[in-house]
Amino acid sequence: MNMRNHILSLGGEFHYRSCVTNLLVSNGKITGVEVNHKEKIASSCVVLAIGHSARDTFVMLHEKGILMRPKNFAVGVRVEHPRRMIDQSQYGEFSSILGSASYKLTYQTKEGRGVYSFCMCPGGFVVNASSEKGRLVVNGMSNYDRNEENSNSAIVVSVTPEDFGCDIFSGMEFQRKLEEAAYQEGKGLIPVQLYKDFCDNQVSTSYGEIHPHTKGSTSFGNLRNVLPSFVSDSILEAMPEFGKKIQNFDRSDALFLGVETRTSSPVVIERNDDFVSSISGLYPCGEGAGYAGGITTAAIDGMKTAEKIVLSS
Ligand SMILES: Cc1cc2nc3c(=O)[nH]c(=O)nc-3n(C[C@H](O)[C@H](O)[C@H](O)COP(=O)(O)OP(=O)(O)OC[C@H]3O[C@@H](n4cnc5c(N)ncnc54)[C@H](O)[C@@H]3O)c2cc1C
Repeated sequence: MNMRNHILSLGGEFHYRSCVTNLLVSNGKITGVEVNHKEKIASSCVVLAIGHSARDTFVMLHEKGILMRPKNFAVGVRVEHPRRMIDQSQYGEFSSILGSASYKLTYQTKEGRGVYSFCMCPGGFVVNASSEKGRLVVNGMSNYDRNEENSNSAIVVSVTPEDFGCDIFSGMEFQRKLEEAAYQEGKGLIPVQLYKDFCDNQVSTSYGEIHPHTKGSTSFGNLRNVLPSFVSDSILEAMPEFGKKIQNFDRSDALFLGVETRTSSPVVIERNDDFVSSISGLYPCGEGAGYAGGITTAAIDGMKTAEKIVLSS
């Protein structure tokens, strides 16, 4: 709120419930945007900070001829463990005084594929972060005190255009297919499975010591039906290795929830050294444009973009 009020005090405006539905372009230069298919806002400088889930906007940009290319990202599941187990493994005898522990895990499969933990949330929740009807995607979050029962992270496998195709939107369609399968598998709820049942390729029927900590309801499902086999196989190969780094990480009642598809944008919106896209005055920025991966890097990319705009004027 303080940031918003500061911007308002400097003459900025906020337009809520306003979707940019078209770009106004003349002679290769941006002249403004169309909002909600009717209102037009004129400007010779437009920053596109649209996030990585603005699929309809990506399509609109492509139709306007803005240069984009597919890029690598990663997909997988979210794993939940007791927070105290992670704390104990990371901090040992100091775990009661050091607070909730985080971790970072990486592994390269025998075939050379990267498997890694992402967006680790100590003492947090798994979140149903779906944004499209009939499709389901999860993410994670921790509240400030990080003291919920479970700690979670995404365990993801890198995927490249070799896996999903070289068309601009092949990656996006690949994400959609996985999200549709997750929605089906969980019957509209977050599908959850014990790690041992993921190994045995069967639906779980009851929990062990760990119960899901989620924002959104769950239902048992088989995530092997959701993920391509090369992704499942890579996770299966990595988990015992992760168990060597964090004690009991591969315990049989660890929970897998799915599906994780939005680790980063499936496309890059091309920009030159001055951060300008193939249309003059249009600045792609942040995670959706492919130049950031998280809150801090997106914010820094916003600052760098602002500096470029100031320098150009
Ligand atoms: C549940 C959850 C938890 C997360 N936790 C973390 C975390 O702990 N740490 C971390 O670093 N990252 C976290 N992330 C990721 C983080 O939110 C993103 O990396 C970051 O917000 C990207 O910033 P951005 O400004 O590039 O895009 P966004 O924050 O995604 O903002 C893009 C905005 O553009 C709007 N938009 C899109 N298209 C249009 C259009 N056509 N017209 C008008 N507006 C449009 C969208 O509605 C959105 O408001 C989390 C994400 C989720 C979903």
